[in-house]
Amino acid sequence: MTRQPAVSIRGLNVWIRGKHVLKNIDLDIPEAAVTVILGPSGSGKSTLLRTINRLIDFVPGAKVEGKVLVFGVDALKADPYELRSRIGMVFQTPNPFPHMSIYENVAVAAKINRVAKTREELDQIVKWALEAARLWDEVKDRLHDPPTALSGGQQQRLCLARALAMRPKLLLLDEPTANIDAHNTVMIENALRSLVEELGLTIILVTHMPHQALRVADYIAVIYNGQLVEYGPADEIAVNPKHEFTVKLFKGEVG
Ligand code: ADP
Ligand code: MG
Repeated sequence: MTRQPAVSIRGLNVWIRGKHVLKNIDLDIPEAAVTVILGPSGSGKSTLLRTINRLIDFVPGAKVEGKVLVFGVDALKADPYELRSRIGMVFQTPNPFPHMSIYENVAVAAKINRVAKTREELDQIVKWALEAARLWDEVKDRLHDPPTALSGGQQQRLCLARALAMRPKLLLLDEPTANIDAHNTVMIENALRSLVEELGLTIILVTHMPHQALRVADYIAVIYNGQLVEYGPADEIAVNPKHEFTVKLFKGEVG
């Protein structure tokens, strides 16, 4: 028996100020796997993520048609606050809350979802999230420092820990390693694989880097000019790409 997909998208069209940005997208995102959305700049990748978590509500002039189910919930009709409380998000630029300590940045997310009932439980979940984001060893002795004391790559791992402390079932990452160094990139990629394999988390990772897709993806969806032009298991897409853009991308001819 096939399992219900984590996210099911049918006939999705998005216009922004009259520009047709996403065109007739049909896509099922499997549970407990990393699906990478790959595509060039301006192809509509971020808009797709924003539609799933309803950040599209804040894009002036956006119009959305179609159906998006997130774990069976109609995302386009659901209460956006309720929806977002189940979906973790990490953005391209690390954005920890600057006025909160490292500890508070993570604890605040757990508090919002009432994940912990006691101070001890809160401490445990903060430690768990920082370990899962591969940051604990570097910050355990300075949890009450501000996040500005951390490097950019550490700040991005803190943002991953903050997203995980909500205990989401779905994690969205929009080019999370575009602004950080190779060492931090590998740490984040390894953390994502562990979260899928050990916790069964469902992850959608947006990137324009084919090598990152090959390192972390179970499935790859290629978006080009607002259209889903290719979708399948990562090894199949890498070995036998069908669309001209994907062929060039894996040959290193476009980036
Ligand atoms: P990607 O993430 O793949 O680079 P985006 O989803 O950010 O692509 O953008 C896709 C298209 O939608 C682009 O042509 C962009 O100009 C347009 N777009 C996205 N967000 C906005 C916005 N807030 N206002 C106007 N146009 C936008
Ligand atoms: Mg983008």
